[in-house]
Amino acid sequence: MVAHVAGVFDEKLNEAIANSKILVVGAGGIGCEILKNLVLTGFPQIEIIDLDTIDVSNLNRQFLFHKEHVGKSKAQVARDSALSFNPNVNIVAHHDSVISNDYGVSYFKQFNIVLNALDNRVARNHVNRMCLAANVPLIETGTAGYAGQVELIKKGLTQCYECQPKAAQKTFPGCTIRNTPSEPIHCIVWAKHLFNQLFGEEDPDQDVSPDTADPEAAGEAGSSALTSETTSDGNIQRKSTRAWAAETNYDPEKLFIKLFHDDIRYLLSMENLWKKRRPPTPLSWDKLSGKDDPPAQHSGLPDQRVWSVAECVKVLTTSCKALAEDLKSRADGDHLVWDKDEKNAMDFVTACANIRAHIFNIPLKSRFEIKSMAGNIIPAIATANAIVAGLAVLRAQAILKDEIETCTSVYLRPKLNHRGQLFVPEKNGGELQEMITKINDSVNKRGIKVNVSMNKVMVFQRGKSMNECDIYIEALTPSNPKCYVCAPKPEVGLACNLKQLTLKDLNSALKDGLNMQAPDATVEGKGLVVLSSEPGETEHNNDKTLEELGLNDGCALMVDDFLQNYEVRVRLQHEDEEKNWRLVTDSDAPMPAPKENEKPTNGSNGEPKPGPSRPRHDSDSDMEIIEEDDDGEIIKPPKRRRTEISDEVVELC
Ligand SMILES: [Zn+2]
Repeated sequence: MVAHVAGVFDEKLNEAIANSKILVVGAGGIGCEILKNLVLTGFPQIEIIDLDTIDVSNLNRQFLFHKEHVGKSKAQVARDSALSFNPNVNIVAHHDSVISNDYGVSYFKQFNIVLNALDNRVARNHVNRMCLAANVPLIETGTAGYAGQVELIKKGLTQCYECQPKAAQKTFPGCTIRNTPSEPIHCIVWAKHLFNQLFGEEDPDQDVSPDTADPEAAGEAGSSALTSETTSDGNIQRKSTRAWAAETNYDPEKLFIKLFHDDIRYLLSMENLWKKRRPPTPLSWDKLSGKDDPPAQHSGLPDQRVWSVAECVKVLTTSCKALAEDLKSRADGDHLVWDKDEKNAMDFVTACANIRAHIFNIPLKSRFEIKSMAGNIIPAIATANAIVAGLAVLRAQAILKDEIETCTSVYLRPKLNHRGQLFVPEKNGGELQEMITKINDSVNKRGIKVNVSMNKVMVFQRGKSMNECDIYIEALTPSNPKCYVCAPKPEVGLACNLKQLTLKDLNSALKDGLNMQAPDATVEGKGLVVLSSEPGETEHNNDKTLEELGLNDGCALMVDDFLQNYEVRVRLQHEDEEKNWRLVTDSDAPMPAPKENEKPTNGSNGEPKPGPSRPRHDSDSDMEIIEEDDDGEIIKPPKRRRTEISDEVVELC
């Protein structure tokens, strides 16, 4: 039964719904719920875009999909399933990336409202810019476990998705991971790096051997121990870990001795590190291997039991052998990809992380806990998705009723706050009614008529007569005037060494730092094209430094992205010290969040990746978590922060 039967909605809303055209971006946990709500509310024209195919792990909550749909297009199957609820709806499904030339500004302009149900920041940033360019209201949604959020983004009325700084994902300095771990997560990150070094895609930034360049150990590195392994540059074993492991035929014993005995002894020789820390204890293979440690009594699931160190050694032996076999069975140059759901990969990381934790006197964790931490997982909760999707469609109705100014952001809290609220509107929105009541009470006593509207900064204006006044109350969070995306003239600084940064690096900085898809850059005032997104136009300059291209300190580039209809002025700022590049904004303006390195679709993990010299924000992004102050009130920007999460892969930090 569809809700638009006469009498459910008022006539005006019924008509608005009947004439509306809606775009839903994402057909995952929230997208399925939104689509179902739209169809059952009688929205007649819907388009849905999703790049993903259905995975078994989606089935517990993405209820439009069933076992027989695994491997098929999410958008297409969501459409077919939703049509069974209401065959009279016209749903167009696109199995495609929303970041595609096919979905330009004119495509977005045909919709009354866009609803985002995405799980990553790249796509969110892009849709944000497209909706600003097309001037279409965007309803942005997200969940993280039991928490969730719905936020309206409308050009000129509210802040945009990129108006506020996004919280940096927690990254760890390389020397903490390699030399001085102090928390389980440090050992887990190290174990994942080790997996990649041995079996996965080798990445020089994921070195697992002792870091002799650790400034804390300066002057001490390798001065006494294991000098036979050091080379002239002071580093031990520059041979790749993979090459070494292959030579030893991935022998678990040799691997164990190198990683958990020799390397640890080497670390101990860096004495400065242990002046204020408890030193690690190298482990002996002979004492641990073959030792049968009866597992402790545990009534829970096997995955939730913490293994003994001897068990870890056993699991390391078995999983290492299996992974080596897997790697050998593949073509030359092929490698394994770490996957938390792959048994041997997860066993290997659990065992190695725990052995290392034991060495550094860090508490051991169960396989279950390590899986959560290694995958940055907070379980996706079907009910949270359903609540958020319900709120999103209610917001869509309010927009169609011309009540856009009432669409304040709403946050679903994991538990009741001290006022007994599960849904917490932004502070200004929550206080609105109370404020209006108070004003009315006081002015009515004086016989003054009050007209209240809510879309502007709060001002009192005398009305047409002495006995009438208009009140405008700020209900929606206004945009940040210095936002590098939605400000009238967006601007950002790029600090770099102009003698070293090449045109190719500049292109990466614009793509990764400013989330552009195909940037074009010209020198401000001169119109000279420095970087072109057209193939063949500026590639020949790729290896030239910016200085060689005639760009100097203080010079400004006008950079635009045709697809996003977005232009930003980039000031170049020369710094001798800067090794890569760094975006510089005014202190109260948002710091652009570097783009994730993975494809804009479901699932990811949040390992630090090479790139700009400031900490990366590189994980999935599903929502914004707004902190509450001591009174349980929502703290408004600029204190608010975005937390990086996904529909499935989430960490609240
Ligand atoms: Zn903005």
